[in-house]
Amino acid sequence: MFGLGHKKNELVKLLPEVRGRYVCDEPLAKHTWFGVGGPAEVMFYPEDDKDLEWFMRTKPYNLPICVIGGGSNLLVRDGGVPGVVVKLDSKYYRRIELGDGVITCGAGVRNGELKKVMLENGLGGLEFLVSIPGHLGGSIKTNAGCFGKETKDVLLKVTIVNGEGELREVPAEELTLGYRSSCFPDDWIITSLTLRTEPQDPGKTKEIMAEQKAYREKSQPHNVRTAGSTFKNPEGLRAWELIKKSGCADLRVNGAKVSEKHCNFLVNTGKATAHDLETLGETIVQKVKEHTSITLEWEVKRLGIHK
Ligand SMILES: Cc1cc2nc3c(=O)[nH]c(=O)nc-3n(C[C@H](O)[C@H](O)[C@H](O)COP(=O)(O)OP(=O)(O)OC[C@H]3O[C@@H](n4cnc5c(N)ncnc54)[C@H](O)[C@@H]3O)c2cc1C
Repeated sequence: MFGLGHKKNELVKLLPEVRGRYVCDEPLAKHTWFGVGGPAEVMFYPEDDKDLEWFMRTKPYNLPICVIGGGSNLLVRDGGVPGVVVKLDSKYYRRIELGDGVITCGAGVRNGELKKVMLENGLGGLEFLVSIPGHLGGSIKTNAGCFGKETKDVLLKVTIVNGEGELREVPAEELTLGYRSSCFPDDWIITSLTLRTEPQDPGKTKEIMAEQKAYREKSQPHNVRTAGSTFKNPEGLRAWELIKKSGCADLRVNGAKVSEKHCNFLVNTGKATAHDLETLGETIVQKVKEHTSITLEWEVKRLGIHK
């Protein structure tokens, strides 16, 4: 069994020798937008795909593994995450290569980094993605979207490393991407991806990006600790309207509160714990259910164990 109950630094002794880096007891609060949560028992930063393949092939049987990206859609619980948390953060995973009308990137590239490449090369079509916080691997897993587009609309293929340590190229259709969801095995780690682009005048690209940025600043909280929309929109409805109608717009649990600007966003005002944020979210689910008979589904991914 693996868990935070073990003596400090015990797990790392059981892990294979790698070229990348292991860090014991890495505080995950500093890896997430909410800024809360306990530590990863071990954090693993693979050097490249070969390193990750080797790790997955030779790691102890039954070792819990999970992967995080930019942490912009995550609520890590206060007890932390037992086992190994993988983060693709080396130079290899931050590479961006241009092809014929396509961009191929490591999964650790920040969505916002695409802006420069698009403007310098007269490319369009990915403006919506640039406006979404997080990394490309996480944006595929969540099929992130906004302004009428989703990641699946621009994704051609990915490479993954699976639980047995095999590297495979997978066409986008096989990931079964749906509304803020994907349906591929939990042990697949997306390591790189190819996006479709279209030729576009940089002036036009800049204009679209500026409009989208202005819209966000007007309608959503910014420069605060949040993880974006907390709940998915039920079919044909808007989560924020249900939340407001159910009298939840002013709710607060200690340092966790509902954003005044957009009531589907929860905010850590500075001293919230993950427990405060999750309790606030669950209170909203309960109240919306009582008022509307609709059960809201969390869009934010909750990870780890309670303290
Ligand atoms: C201010 C704000 C605004 C936002 N606006 C939007 C929006 O408009 N539209 C929208 O869709 N989302 C939005 N989000 C949510 C979030 O930015 C997106 O879901 C984002 O794409 C998540 O990427 P990430 O790298 O941060 O993933 P993380 O939060 O780190 O992880 C999310 C999930 O992806 C998995 N994952 C991460 N990397 C990989 C990988 N390499 N392989 C396999 N699985 C992986 C994780 O295990 C987890 O399940 C917003 C968030 C914030 C804070």
